[in-house]
Parts: sequence; C-alpha cells; structure tokens
Amino acid sequence: MTLLPKTSLPFPEFRPGEVWLIGAGPGDPQHLTMLAYHALQSADVVVYDALVDKRILDMIRPGTETHFVGKRGGKPSTHQRDINDTIIVLAKDGRRVARLKGGDPFVFGRGGEEAVALTRAGVPFRVVPGVTSGLAATALAGIPATMRETNHALILATGHCADDDRTRWEALAQTGQPLILYMALARLAEISIALQRGGLSADTPVAMISSAAAEEERVLETSLGAAAADAEANGVKPPAIIVIGAIAALRRTLIHGMARGL
Ligand code: SAH
Repeated sequence: MTLLPKTSLPFPEFRPGEVWLIGAGPGDPQHLTMLAYHALQSADVVVYDALVDKRILDMIRPGTETHFVGKRGGKPSTHQRDINDTIIVLAKDGRRVARLKGGDPFVFGRGGEEAVALTRAGVPFRVVPGVTSGLAATALAGIPATMRETNHALILATGHCADDDRTRWEALAQTGQPLILYMALARLAEISIALQRGGLSADTPVAMISSAAAEEERVLETSLGAAAADAEANGVKPPAIIVIGAIAALRRTLIHGMARGL
C-alpha cells in the first residue's frame, strides 16, 4: 500500500463567508480531488447529500459542524430552496461552508441552482469539480466512454424526467451515440422502449453499474430489449449508471486485462 505523500501544493484560501460547491466523486475517497480534500480540512461546516460516501465524511476535520440535507429512510429530501437558504445563512454568518455532493457538483447535482442562488444572494462561491459517477462507473467497469471506432460523441442524460418531453429519447437514439444514464432505473422500461422506437435495436449492448467505487459495486451486462426485466430479476439497486451502446460491450474484452483490488 502506498500512502499519500505530503504536498506543498498552493491551494486557494478558503475564506470565511465563502461557499465551496465540492464534488466528492463516486464513492471511495481515492477518487476525491486534492482540492476537495483541502476544502474538507479547512471548512467550518459541511453540508452534504445522501450520495456522499461515509469514508469521505470520516475525512472531515474532527469538530467540524455537519448538516445532512439528503433523502433518508424514505423521507422526502430537503427542499432545494431550504438547502439554498441554509448555505446562504451559514455563509452570511461568516462560516467557511463546504457544500459536498456526490460525483461532480455541476452534473445532475443541482450545484448550478445553488450557484445561481449564491450569486443572487451576493455570497462568493467556488466550484471544486469532482469525478462524475457516469464516467467513473464506466471506467471502473472497463467501459471506455469513447472509442474511435464506435463513437465521436457521448450523451449524458438523466432518466428522472423520462415523461418530460424535454428529453426526446427517440431523437437521442437517432444520433447513434452511446448514452450514459443517471437516475434511470425506475423508468428503464419506458426509456428502453422509446429508444427502440427511435431506432436502437433490441440487442444494443447495455451495462448497469450500481454503487460504483463502493464495496457493493455490481455490474450487470445485458441488452436494450432485456434491460428492464434483467435489472428487476437481478435486483439492481440505485445508485446506478446505465450505459447503452457499443462501448458497453468492450467490458467483455477488457475484463480479462483488468487488475482487481486495491
Ligand atoms: N452529481 C452526481 C450525480 C447526482 S444524480 C455525479 O456527478 O455523479 C444521482 C445519480 O448519480 C444516481 O441516481 C446514479 O445514477 C448516479 N450515481 C451517483 N453515484 C453513483 C455510484 N457510486 N454508482 C453508480 N451510480 C451513481
């Protein structure tokens, strides 16, 4: 095992009254950025979501105040307006506020909405990018996001708004580019039907990666036509990333070359 060397990186100062919107990466703290780690050591208060790995919370400087604002035990998640108000009030109180989110704060994480609210409230903020789960889960599963032979583009989409016609699944299918779906398990059946209506064949390769970068990580390989039933039969649980397209099949080759374990 190799331990992190001491660094003399010139990190920016976390000033009182600032909010840092921090990406915690997909799970395991080994995917945390150095800047995120620095922020967690300097913050006065950490406001975090349900998807932040417990091992990352353990890295917060002892004695730091923490606020959980995610969904827990079937209770509804804290309303976004209340989260905005919380971080604004804490910052105006002169605290260094670390707003910690899973993955990247600006990818399906409502970090953008918080940044707008902070700007309107006159609270200075900084964004600390994180490794987004869509790209981490795929890479860890042996699925390259791009391959010259198969795709020159990549679609990151949320399945959460499947019945919202802003996501035109048929049109996305027609691009022929692979899709990486967040929050799509619950609506997978209707999404896969819409994608097939858009021209993707039922045997398009699909991979589902649940709890990437955590001990419970599981990968299920299937096809578009069978995906929803297979997810159900195998008890695939959120959080999960669903990859649809030729890139998903590369895992079958790369798995043989991949080193496992820490
Ligand atoms: N900002 C986050 C995404 C938040 S939306 C990011 O950049 O990753 C929440 C969705 O992210 C989950 O429903 C799931 O689709 C995905 N997700 C987050 N962490 C994950 C993980 N460890 N493994 C698989 N999917 C994950």
